[in-house]
Amino acid sequence: MRVLVLGAGVVGVTTAYYLSQLGCDVTVVDRESDVALGTSFANAGQLSYSFTDSLARPDFFAQLPGLLLGRDPGSRIRIDPRLIGWGLRFLTQCTSRRAARNTVDLLSIAMRSGELMTDFLQTVPIEFSHRAAGKLILLTDNNQLRAAQETAALKRANGCDTDVLTRAESISIEPALADINEEFVAAVYSKDDSVADALQFTSGLRDHLESSRQVTFRLNAEVRAIETVQGQFKHVALENETIEADAIIVCAGVQSVELLRPLGIRLPIYPVRGYSVTLPLADASPAASITALRRRIAIARLGEKIRIAGFADFVGNNTNADQERIRSLLQLARDIAPRAADYDAADWQPWAENRPMTPDGRPFVGQSAIKNLYLNTGHGMLGWTLAHACAADVAAAVAR
Ligand SMILES: Cc1cc2nc3c(=O)[nH]c(=O)nc-3n(C[C@H](O)[C@H](O)[C@H](O)COP(=O)(O)OP(=O)(O)OC[C@H]3O[C@@H](n4cnc5c(N)ncnc54)[C@H](O)[C@@H]3O)c2cc1C
Repeated sequence: MRVLVLGAGVVGVTTAYYLSQLGCDVTVVDRESDVALGTSFANAGQLSYSFTDSLARPDFFAQLPGLLLGRDPGSRIRIDPRLIGWGLRFLTQCTSRRAARNTVDLLSIAMRSGELMTDFLQTVPIEFSHRAAGKLILLTDNNQLRAAQETAALKRANGCDTDVLTRAESISIEPALADINEEFVAAVYSKDDSVADALQFTSGLRDHLESSRQVTFRLNAEVRAIETVQGQFKHVALENETIEADAIIVCAGVQSVELLRPLGIRLPIYPVRGYSVTLPLADASPAASITALRRRIAIARLGEKIRIAGFADFVGNNTNADQERIRSLLQLARDIAPRAADYDAADWQPWAENRPMTPDGRPFVGQSAIKNLYLNTGHGMLGWTLAHACAADVAAAVAR
């Protein structure tokens, strides 16, 4: 069976891997000159198998006025019609019941992804700075603490090993927290969460799949249209040619919306902008991954470097403020964690991209309304974490 995967980010390339395991003849198409040059390039590196908490939750209503008035340094909003439509759907998810359901649904996909990653590590010999680092999420007030305790209980009831620790217990697990300028009262600790470099993973997996002749990669190949005949996928149109296949899986991240709209498939995916900086290690770089919830930033050691990522800006595809936001992220990190990275190094790397966010945080995975056209897109803040389970699921659906 010939299967076309549209998009060579972490989601598309992982999908190609699971399809090839099932004996499919796979071609991956991407408009870029290499794999993982979109949202998968320099994300926070968290494999958050336990931290799947819904962004849409009841306390969002209390945060909303501050967000709209521009008083939350971790988030900016620029109202446009697309954001209004998406935002209204997001607000319907902000009930306790839906927040709990979305968190648990994502948790079960994330935990399966963790299991599949363990199998993958034993099967495919590639290096991508994978480390079972454990994750600490710093809680700065009693409201956060109460909510975290409830969520931890919910997760434990669903088979996830996560706990809420005191400040002193957290520092005994990660001594670098003693140097952090953040008044945290407690921390959520998930010892099974890991860190790894999504770019290294995607590039290494591409090399592995190409050299073992399991998958063909067509790069520098922009898909202009997905064509159907009598309600069934037929081929994709590039600039000067078409590529036929028996099935297609759209893994085009934020661009999936524009690619699918002409076919009548309207996905509620909004581009939520985020930023990262990658710096050399310093004398007190943490070993565990650390998230300062109130500030919306995460710090992770990936091999011999530190990745600091964060912010969630609802500004559409506007990139005008990127430089300013990256400078703010860097300054914030320097203020909070002055000894975590070598901030004065000349060779630091800035980055900005859009997360493909759905209102309920859950991705679209499986058959679409069009025969032989499948989706694996809309993974929002968790695409790297969820990649294995979503790829295995969509590959199994295609092979069936
Ligand atoms: C700041 C930040 C931090 C993050 N941190 C984490 C984290 O710690 N953990 C985590 O799990 N997730 C994290 N994420 C989210 C995660 O990075 C994404 O969910 C994930 O990368 C999405 O992968 P993807 O393959 O779907 O999309 P992409 O990587 O964007 O891949 C889509 C591909 O489709 C291609 N494409 C699009 N249109 C076309 C076309 N017309 N023709 C051909 N090719 C096309 C693009 O070129 C691109 O290569 C973070 C995101 C950001 C922005």
